[in-house]
Amino acid sequence: MPKPHPDKKPHLDIQENVPLAPFTSFRIGGPARFLVGARDLRELQEALRLARAMNLPFCILGGGSNLLVSDDGFPGLAIRLLMDRVTFSGGMVQVQGGFDLTTLVHRTADWGLSGLESLAGIPGTVGGAVRGNAGAYGGAIGDVVATVSALDSTTLQTLTLRRDQCDFGYRDSRFKRDPGLIVVGTLLALLPGDQDEIRTKVAQTLAKREAKQLSCDRSAGSFFMNPEVNDAALVRRFEEEQGVRCRECHIPAGWLIDQAGLRSLSVGGAAVSHRHANYLVNTGSATAGDVVELARLVRQEVRRKLGVELKEEVSPLGLVI
Ligand SMILES: Cc1cc2nc3c(=O)[nH]c(=O)nc-3n(C[C@H](O)[C@H](O)[C@H](O)COP(=O)(O)OP(=O)(O)OC[C@H]3O[C@@H](n4cnc5c(N)ncnc54)[C@H](O)[C@@H]3O)c2cc1C
Repeated sequence: MPKPHPDKKPHLDIQENVPLAPFTSFRIGGPARFLVGARDLRELQEALRLARAMNLPFCILGGGSNLLVSDDGFPGLAIRLLMDRVTFSGGMVQVQGGFDLTTLVHRTADWGLSGLESLAGIPGTVGGAVRGNAGAYGGAIGDVVATVSALDSTTLQTLTLRRDQCDFGYRDSRFKRDPGLIVVGTLLALLPGDQDEIRTKVAQTLAKREAKQLSCDRSAGSFFMNPEVNDAALVRRFEEEQGVRCRECHIPAGWLIDQAGLRSLSVGGAAVSHRHANYLVNTGSATAGDVVELARLVRQEVRRKLGVELKEEVSPLGLVI
């Protein structure tokens, strides 16, 4: 294939007034004023230049699995990150931000590389996962990151940040705190291992998720983060009831919501899932307003009944949760 001339501007296919609901796992949200897909770095840079020239805000859409979009939509340029190349050499995997995370977990298992098994089944893109330090079962993507390539949306320059510069924490990173940094790729340091053993671990993770019904449709996964709880009696109750030790006093938000008697609470078309109390689900006709009001009620009741403050894990777009 001939390479594009470096001076030639990439051609962007911009659509106007596009409903965002189909791009989110919640299936909720009004239209973006403009929507564009960025298949490579040059297209992403061009899209950002365009937003600036039109004096419009921009936002990045990954897999839409952690997004709650306002019913009024987004009054700017929504950019879908479609950069999805992956290569590996030894234990190092270079993957672009738009690559599907679960596909990557299977791909690395096929390559006999270990390190991502606990992330199997988490929907969304690699970029979205790095930004939120996605994880499950004691592992998170930040644990295996060697470097992250990020595009600075102001200077349009790419930076390469080492893991210790990414400020990874529980569902947190430098990229979450600074929305001006777009994760365009990451270099992961994985360990060569036995292909069958790695595939078995991936299958075990998927089975655990299935048993807990964590693949719930029309949600954004866990709506709230697992809070740190300082009430020793509550922590003891959790440990005794569940037969587990509480990790750094972080109690699952779902257990707290259950204890507050909120399972199956609903507002309009939004409900607390009866299968997993930390999943707020769209039962078919929910608006973002319904979800926001439901989240407000859940937070209020957990605070009133248990004295614990819940903070959302889901990313709002065009609204305040
Ligand atoms: C059924 C279900 C189960 C889930 N289970 C888990 C779980 O076990 N563990 C877990 O951690 N999460 C879980 N999630 C949440 C979600 O899958 C993760 O947060 C995921 O990493 C989000 O990635 P995404 O590409 O879909 O991001 P999106 O939803 O598209 O975006 C989320 C936010 O990240 C920003 N963003 C996206 N891509 C980039 C990028 N490249 N650079 C900078 N910012 C970006 C967006 O602008 C937005 O603010 C679950 C979700 C669902 C629906």
